[in-house]
Amino acid sequence: MDSIFSDRISDAPKSFIREILKVAVNTEIISFAGGLPNRNLFPVKELQAATNKVFDLAGKDALQYSNTEGYLELRQFISNRYKEQKGFDIPVKNILITSGSQQGLDLLGKTFINEGDDVIIEEPGYLGAIQAFSIYRAKFNTVTLNEDGLDLNQLAGVLDKKEPKLIYTVPNFQNPSGISYSAENRKAIAEQLKEVRTLLVEDDPYGALRYSGEPKASFYSYIPEQTVMLGTFSKTVVPSFRIGWMVAPDSIMERLVIAKQASDLHTNYFSQRVLAQYLEDNDIDEHIENIRLLYGKQRQAMIESIKEHFPEDVHYTLPEGGMFLWVTLPKGYSTMNLFDIAIKKNVAFVPGSPFYVGKNDTNTFRLNFSCVDEGSIKTGIERLAQSMRELIS
Ligand code: PMP
Repeated sequence: MDSIFSDRISDAPKSFIREILKVAVNTEIISFAGGLPNRNLFPVKELQAATNKVFDLAGKDALQYSNTEGYLELRQFISNRYKEQKGFDIPVKNILITSGSQQGLDLLGKTFINEGDDVIIEEPGYLGAIQAFSIYRAKFNTVTLNEDGLDLNQLAGVLDKKEPKLIYTVPNFQNPSGISYSAENRKAIAEQLKEVRTLLVEDDPYGALRYSGEPKASFYSYIPEQTVMLGTFSKTVVPSFRIGWMVAPDSIMERLVIAKQASDLHTNYFSQRVLAQYLEDNDIDEHIENIRLLYGKQRQAMIESIKEHFPEDVHYTLPEGGMFLWVTLPKGYSTMNLFDIAIKKNVAFVPGSPFYVGKNDTNTFRLNFSCVDEGSIKTGIERLAQSMRELIS
């Protein structure tokens, strides 16, 4: 019998990371495989207080259906922050609350991608975006991510031959590589895009988590009418609320709202209310500063241990923020094989292949530093270095 499943679901890549996380649950294992924010930083008491307040002040309202665009006060908060932090004037009507920024990706797919349409993604790229666009049967054109951003010649090559609907970017502390695009690289990409109709997606879940260096201009400051920005509270407050947002020009917003209505009517209204209350009653900048202090220390511990222990010909990125660092072994070595050796030594990471389109094995892998304390980072990196020596010898 032919499968009753749709082509779109049959062709979508599975989340390989889920499989790895299953292996890494053993408490003996030091896991650099996760992609989670550190739970010790969740503002549990503050969210509990905000929840009580919402029940006390607006119980019935907060439990009713609401509008698709999202809770007005929350959208106003986001608009104000763009103004304060980046100097952007973004009216509330151009902000749509989404169920995590992941839903933003799905809505973009739904709104723009017909089967076989070209899209551009970074290589390596965020696997959640690869998965979301695969569902709409996009044709992926990869552009290599170098230390300072996208490879401009490759980008020009794709734009020369094709008319991609979207280009998906994570210009700050990218997942998986930790790389940030330089100011020059951003400007040059924006210049190339001015010549075409391709829409640029700027996904920025990690931008607030900077530990060194200076922020660079957003694509929105170069090509506002051609940019869709995605944001989220997952990394700065909590991921379980599933609250993110999209910023888009009027003409696009209208269609995105229809796409969202069809998906879920609106994002969980109760958690929007609780989050807005939390943001009203607490200093989010102070909270973000605590996150930056902890992750910044853990990043430093990881870089120092790597410098001390990794073989010389192993390359790694030096992220200025975010949660990840990216490692490249000399050509020809398999990080799937490295994983098998490492897991026996009780240390885990994510091999690079899920972050590429159509590669089963690579010489790269991702390390997470947000969830492992400094002592375990040192032990874990030593174990990993030993595993590399075994693989290479
Ligand atoms: N984009 C990127 C680059 C991410 O790393 C993540 C989280 N892993 C997301 C989007 C999705 O985040 P959320 O849906 O929780 O906002």
